[in-house]
Amino acid sequence: MQISTKGIILGQVNFGDNDRYVTILTEQLGVIEAFAKNAQRMKNKLSVGTQVFAYCQFDLFQNRGKYRLDNAQVISIFYDLRSDIAKIGLASYFAELTRSLVREGDRAEGFLRLFLNCLHFTAAGEKPLSQIKAVFELRGLSLCGFMPDVVGCRECCCYEQERFVFFPLEGFLLCGDCLDECDRARPKIPLNMSILTAMRHILYADFERIFSFRLSEQNLRYLEKVSEKYTLATVERSFRSLDFYHTVC
Ligand SMILES: [Zn+2]
Repeated sequence: MQISTKGIILGQVNFGDNDRYVTILTEQLGVIEAFAKNAQRMKNKLSVGTQVFAYCQFDLFQNRGKYRLDNAQVISIFYDLRSDIAKIGLASYFAELTRSLVREGDRAEGFLRLFLNCLHFTAAGEKPLSQIKAVFELRGLSLCGFMPDVVGCRECCCYEQERFVFFPLEGFLLCGDCLDECDRARPKIPLNMSILTAMRHILYADFERIFSFRLSEQNLRYLEKVSEKYTLATVERSFRSLDFYHTVC
């Protein structure tokens, strides 16, 4: 069966002297592995379109659950990512997290759109990396069914309070008044209203507006920490690319 879909290369492994296996986040098929014959050869038509972070229109042939890549028409290769080790580290983390979250067979138009937007802002250097990272994590988890509930306190439903705490393992909030002794022993993170408002914005705003919020550098760093804790607690694993990113950023 022939399938044509837009997608982005998340990873590649060279095979033998000429061939290559690639992992692609596609609009229609979720995350798939595909065989790209002769893609290692410089002059081959698949050479550029099978590089990591190449965004392409892919022509695939599916047979018995396996995919062969027949053509890759390059739309963007996000060249500017390569100019900065922190940017490439962050983009690599996005790719690794995506492989944990999106499965083969999932429709992933929304996730691909988020991925491309975050990669664009990372490459362009138009937003702080900590902001892009928090947006990718929170909105990405939410698209995959892991949206935390930060609308209000889980006990009394209050929306604004001097003090809130967020529980990263469970993904909910309690206000200072409702926090009781048994909650005190569980892992939790205090949130100020600026950070909570930013989290609500990332999770609930229209897609076009997800980056339209501002925080002080200190609050952005804190948001990044909260978002990362929730992410790692949700996917229950660590990421080598994230460890690397933290060594350079
Ligand atoms: Zn409460």
